[in-house]
Formats: sequence, structure tokens, C-alpha cells
Amino acid sequence: MHSLRSTLLTAATTLVATFTFSSCETKSAAASEVTDKAKLASFSSKKDTAALSTPDPTSIPASKIASAATIYGREQVPILCYHQIRDWRPRDSRRAKDYIVPVETFRQQIKMLADSGYHSVLPDQLYAYLTMGVPLPSKPVMLTFDDTDLDQFIVAKPELDKYGFKAVYFVMTVSLGRPHYMSRAQVKELADAGNVIGSHTWDHHNVKKYQGDDWATQIDKPTKQLEEITGKPVKYFAYPFGLWNPEAIPELKKRGFVSAFVLSEKRDQQEPLYTVRRLIASGYWSPRTLHNSMMNSF
Ligand SMILES: [Zn+2]
Repeated sequence: MHSLRSTLLTAATTLVATFTFSSCETKSAAASEVTDKAKLASFSSKKDTAALSTPDPTSIPASKIASAATIYGREQVPILCYHQIRDWRPRDSRRAKDYIVPVETFRQQIKMLADSGYHSVLPDQLYAYLTMGVPLPSKPVMLTFDDTDLDQFIVAKPELDKYGFKAVYFVMTVSLGRPHYMSRAQVKELADAGNVIGSHTWDHHNVKKYQGDDWATQIDKPTKQLEEITGKPVKYFAYPFGLWNPEAIPELKKRGFVSAFVLSEKRDQQEPLYTVRRLIASGYWSPRTLHNSMMNSF
């Protein structure tokens, strides 16, 4: 039993090592669904009151939820996706640097958001906005972090705290407690501080290939574990590599997920809540480039 567990852990570690640097990559941050740059101005400007009255998604009756066409038609909230926040090393590939944001670059990107008047919003707010048209704060942005990297806790969180920003952390449970990854206690601390913990599977396998026990291994057990750690329900999911297929959506619904996040490809017209777009904030981007990319992509 012990040796089987060791073997599994070794295999899992290898997988994590293999996947981390290429995680979530399908496309560069190239914009799709380019729309009017001025549209952010039309979000409600009801300051920070939205957070106080945000309903829990599971409490919203189905009859109150807008049609897919209505949801698809609403203005998109810019959502940024980060992975590692650390200075580049000589061995980092050119491509990996899209996913590795140097510390000072990250600081400048987040400062730009604060200086520009952005307000961070969380998935329950986004859900209430998309499904019922509940107003969001002015200049909403959602900040998301994938893959459980320790620097998200050590470097990113204190930076967000400076500006009162909250974020979503999509945790890959296999890596919890491993070197360079967050511990269970750190994940709990994030949740206790008002951040949202979402699922990013057990070990980052592609959802499109699940069969047999994979749904239990990759989704059911990690969800249960995260709920035990945080004491809160896990309602949001980020597809590894941003990859999904139509068969995955009913499986996620069945398991209580109310929304799921992709990367910058197009949303699905029938299932916009399960294909919410995110933009990878590249390590190459100045604050100005990030802002332009947000404007162009959402
Ligand atoms: Zn990932």
C-alpha cells in the first residue's frame, strides 16, 4: 500500500513538473471577439454595494436565470489569468515567459489596474451579473490564478492586498503541500480572507479525455478535498489548458459547478456560463500593453 502510494505520488510529481510550465496554454493572448473599446464605461457605477447583495448562485431559481442568448449578449467582464509570479531564469523558454510574470512586472500590472479605477469582482458577482443583470462595480476586473504556485500566495496576494483586490485561485490538488506549491493552510488562508477557491482538477489532465473513473479522480475527490480545506462549497472550475468539449459541461453541472472558465478562445453560444473567457496576462506585457489587451479582448 505504502509503495503504491509512493509510486502514485512520484508519478503525480512528474506530471506536475511536466504540466506546470505548459499549463493552460492553448493560444497566446490574442484577442478574439473584439468589440467596442469604450464599452466598459457602460457597466453600472454602483460603487461597492454589489458585493453586499450578491446572491449565492445555488439560491437563484432557474426561472430567474436569463437565456443563453441574453447571457452571451452581455458585455464581457475582463478576466485575467496568471500562473507563476517570479523573475525569469535563464532556462525559461520564450513561450514559458507568457506564463511567468516577473515580480516587478506583476506589481506594475496590478498597480495600473488600481490606478485606473478597476474594482476586482468575484465569480458570484459575475454569475449574478450574467444570469440576472445584477450591477457590478464600475470598471470590473476578475483576477484568477491557476496551478497552485506558491508565489501566488507569497508574492501576488500581498500585492493585491495593497489595493483591496480579491482573486480566484484555481487549485490543482495533487500539488498541495509540495515544494513551490501552496499548502492546505495557505489555501484556507486565501479562502478565509475572502478570495475564492476553485477547482483545476487533481493533476491537470485534459477534460476532453476523461473516461471511466477520471471524473471521480480529477473532479469529485479534489472538489471534496477543497471543500474540506476551506469549509466552503467549490462552485467554479477552470479547464486545464483551457480545453473543454460539450460532453464535459453536463458532467460539471451534475457535480454542482455553476460556471467554468476557458482561455481566450470563443465562448460557446449555448453554454456561455461554462465557457467564460480569460486572458493570460503575459510576463512580457507592460501595464499599457495589458490594458490595451484587456480593451481589445473583452
Ligand atoms: Zn493550469
